[in-house]
Amino acid sequence: MSNPSLLILAGDGIGPEVMNEVKKIIGWYGDKRDLAFDVEDDLVGGAAFDAHGTPLTDATMEKAQNADAVLLGAVGGPKYDTLDFSQKPERGLLRLRKEMDLFSNLRPAQCFDALADFSSLKRDVVAGLDIMIVRELTSGVYFGEPRGIHKEGNERVGVNTQRYTESEIARVARSAFELARRRNNKVCSMEKANVMESGVLWRQVVTEIHEAEYADVELSHMYADAGAMQLCRWPKQFDVIVTDNLFGDLLSDAAAMLTGSLGMLPSASLGAPMANGRPKALYEPVHGSAPDIAGQGKANPIACILSFAMALRYSFDQAAEAERLEKAVEKVLADGKRTADLLGPEGGTPISTAEMGDAIVEAL
Ligand code: ATP
Ligand code: MG
Repeated sequence: MSNPSLLILAGDGIGPEVMNEVKKIIGWYGDKRDLAFDVEDDLVGGAAFDAHGTPLTDATMEKAQNADAVLLGAVGGPKYDTLDFSQKPERGLLRLRKEMDLFSNLRPAQCFDALADFSSLKRDVVAGLDIMIVRELTSGVYFGEPRGIHKEGNERVGVNTQRYTESEIARVARSAFELARRRNNKVCSMEKANVMESGVLWRQVVTEIHEAEYADVELSHMYADAGAMQLCRWPKQFDVIVTDNLFGDLLSDAAAMLTGSLGMLPSASLGAPMANGRPKALYEPVHGSAPDIAGQGKANPIACILSFAMALRYSFDQAAEAERLEKAVEKVLADGKRTADLLGPEGGTPISTAEMGDAIVEAL
């Protein structure tokens, strides 16, 4: 049997720096766990523009469609700010998401004990927190028509349309229920069914899918505003939260920051199942290309490393190995090792990107 394939698009800024550390970890799995991947490197974003005059070539797009998983670093940087909209580095990422039809965006909020005091919340509220927000990524108010700014009488009117079809809700609901079965069998669905028709339909469809296919999973519903409040008050009451594009945008940012630094946050974007039964998938850190620290060996590689852990779990059926990697990260943090972004006001001596990667390999 051939090895699972992984397309690596390191991108720009700190992307290649953090990806280097992930490659050490991939190497470790090949050497020590007999879990080898066929890794192919390619360009995206500004790096692709510099080489080919486009942020994503058709050939790279094709490779992404055929890979078992795509791992992306970050795109963008000041050098590309003056480019035409269609050539901007971010367009490369948007094209990947759109053509791979990645409708389900998974954003974990996981609090490592060693960083629990880093949160703005009290330690007992966040310590041990491990929840997952599933955000619908390809529909809703960000895409609905009609949209635009027009004149009505002598004033301007801005219009967006929140629109969801039954099948769009059903597929993201299924993705959340499937996830729940691999976790703690609990889903909370959030919308505003009290004031929005799309929310009424959302609740109906999620309930129908639940009854017909996932009755073994515990399901609750919450209005998204109440959900936001509960997320700040006592986030550990949740396990998987599923919500639409707009609410998910807000709730996932809020939930993520319960736990501390941008340098710690992984994500996955999943699409429809492929022939092997696993979903199309793109894994990437939440952070951007961080031009202010690029090239200085300061970037925290953990977000990208944890994104690879998500790939192990959701694309390669290696939950135990994903856990091993997360435990290794936890151990390194518990040992007091910190990149600069993880040092609080009391300071300390930071380690470099490469030292953090090496420490995690060592802990593995
Ligand atoms: P984008 O526009 O691509 O979403 P952004 O400009 O909003 O990105 P980032 O590029 O993520 O944000 O950077 C925001 C801040 O966080 C910067 O000061 C950056 O140095 C810091 N930062 C981001 N990622 C990391 C990381 N992995 N390690 C350390 N610091 C980071
Ligand atoms: Mg930026």
